[in-house]
Amino acid sequence: MFESLEQLGHTLYLMSVIEKDGTAYALTRTLQGKALVIQGDAAGFTGEAHGDVTLCPLTAANAEALRARLPWLRPQPLGLRTSAGCGDRLGLATPGHIRAVRAVGGDIAPILAQQSMRENARTGRSPQQVMDDALWGVFQEGWREPWGADADHLKTTDDVDVCVAAGYTFFTIDPGAHVDNAAHTDGLETLRGKFTALPWDALEDSAEAMKARYLGSAQIIEDFTLTFDETALLRAACKYGRAIAHTVKMARHLKAAKSDLPFDLEVSVDETDTPTSPLEHVFIVSELRRMGVTWVSLAPRYVGRFEKGVDYIGDLAEFEAEFAKHAAIARVLGPYKLSLHSGSDKFSVYPIVAKYTRRLTHLKTAGTSYLEALRAIAGVDPALFREILGLAIKRYDEDRATYHVSADIDNVLMPSLIPDEELADVLDTFDGREALHVTFGSALERFGKRLLATLEANEEAHYTALERHFIKHLTPFK
Ligand SMILES: [Zn+2]
Repeated sequence: MFESLEQLGHTLYLMSVIEKDGTAYALTRTLQGKALVIQGDAAGFTGEAHGDVTLCPLTAANAEALRARLPWLRPQPLGLRTSAGCGDRLGLATPGHIRAVRAVGGDIAPILAQQSMRENARTGRSPQQVMDDALWGVFQEGWREPWGADADHLKTTDDVDVCVAAGYTFFTIDPGAHVDNAAHTDGLETLRGKFTALPWDALEDSAEAMKARYLGSAQIIEDFTLTFDETALLRAACKYGRAIAHTVKMARHLKAAKSDLPFDLEVSVDETDTPTSPLEHVFIVSELRRMGVTWVSLAPRYVGRFEKGVDYIGDLAEFEAEFAKHAAIARVLGPYKLSLHSGSDKFSVYPIVAKYTRRLTHLKTAGTSYLEALRAIAGVDPALFREILGLAIKRYDEDRATYHVSADIDNVLMPSLIPDEELADVLDTFDGREALHVTFGSALERFGKRLLATLEANEEAHYTALERHFIKHLTPFK
């Protein structure tokens, strides 16, 4: 197959070569970049004939034609399988992610397309582009096992529609804007007023009926019991009532938009200011279930701090005690997976999470892959890395606004002071990681083309950095 390509000066990606129904397909690298090559029936593809093969550019239309021919290039719902979200802001990381999943073995299903609307806005990509980039990576590596596509942190029904159209299979509903964080500490009188004013119609409920369901009844969760008194119930209801109503609206919209096709639903309240107590967890899921919502994973806001791209900050013993309860609730009232958002680089909590979830885990990572891309850049183009670091130092105070980070930019060394061989070490420091992490939008705006071209020209260095980093993330959960 494809013998004539060598004469054209191509390098074939051997893992990609596949023959199906008498037609052969592969990914190849030409002097102009990557191309899809087809030998046999190329109807429906747009490309140029070269001898006995057709060379097709990696366009959206050719991606669509290819997924119609090779069904494993479409993402699938993953249900309760242990899963790992591999967000890829640059659209070049999927081969590295797949290599790590393969190297670790075990039974972890990867989510290879995963972007929030915020990340799409900052990277100038559409949900469809994210999906297509993942497809080409899946094709390149010859991955034929199920993989998922997460439309992350959806906040409006318009977000849902765009991602359904692009073929996403995993939908993360984020009702965080509707969480009343003040209710976390409000006094009983204030809570009573807020409770009366909840959107009872949208909740298909009444204040009296809710009190009758919860007050005085004990929830037995494996080896502990949770009891709602008036303050606890009102606090949970006021804090999460509107978020629950919004989630129900989003979930019903999604179900209708997906017609009867199966999909995975995740509910996330992780990006809120106050932690979700085990009792509030019980309240949220009981109410969602009452209104007919079904989900495969839930991301409470855990105690401590899950900052971007760095290890857990907080009291590990307290985290363990609380996490054990959340995991038990997810088994008894589900089962569903507990989801760890901003989950990258939290090496100190992985053993705890793995132990208590008993494989009902979803690990979600996003920006850490961008940092590994920068590690590759530091090795192959120190000048470019210096410019990106310099920009990060300038932009950090402004760009950090919508992220949970606490780096002190004064602790990051000026790029001119760092010798080439120590540049990558910045990526092993707390402040350097966070500063580079949250300024990715600025870096892409300024250096996007050069960054992508450098990574494409040095893709093996990029994949190696990613593989090494993700093996560390996946091994605790296999
Ligand atoms: Zn999140």
